[in-house]
Amino acid sequence: MSEYTGGCLCGKIRYKISEEPIFPHFCSCHMCQRWSGSAVATWVDFPRVSLSFEGSGTELTLYRTCETTQRGFCPVCGSGICALDDGSEYICITVGTLDDPNPMAPESQSFPESAPSWLADWRFENGRTEFR
Ligand SMILES: [Zn+2]
Ligand SMILES: [Zn+2]
Repeated sequence: MSEYTGGCLCGKIRYKISEEPIFPHFCSCHMCQRWSGSAVATWVDFPRVSLSFEGSGTELTLYRTCETTQRGFCPVCGSGICALDDGSEYICITVGTLDDPNPMAPESQSFPESAPSWLADWRFENGRTEFR
């Protein structure tokens, strides 16, 4: 059985996931930009039931960013950990909080039209940022 682990910057929040992910993607919607402080957020979805939090550090703080979605972050260091759509069986995890983000290569970009205009001109050295 697969197991994925991760946590926040300060280490007070740790999590473990026991099922396979789907839909690794970039999102450059305005909410992701504000929430992450970055031009894009990088997400991957896991079945919600497979996620468990470990340790006794602290609890996620949930912030409702729109009518149907809450986002969870560490109240100590501020790391953005997850997004939860009401009623969804999946939870979106920020790829950057995984201990090993290597298997989660994004396959698409949501809301590319909301990204900063300079992002479309950006090319990584391996030339693999083209989704449009
Ligand atoms: Zn933290
Ligand atoms: Zn977004």
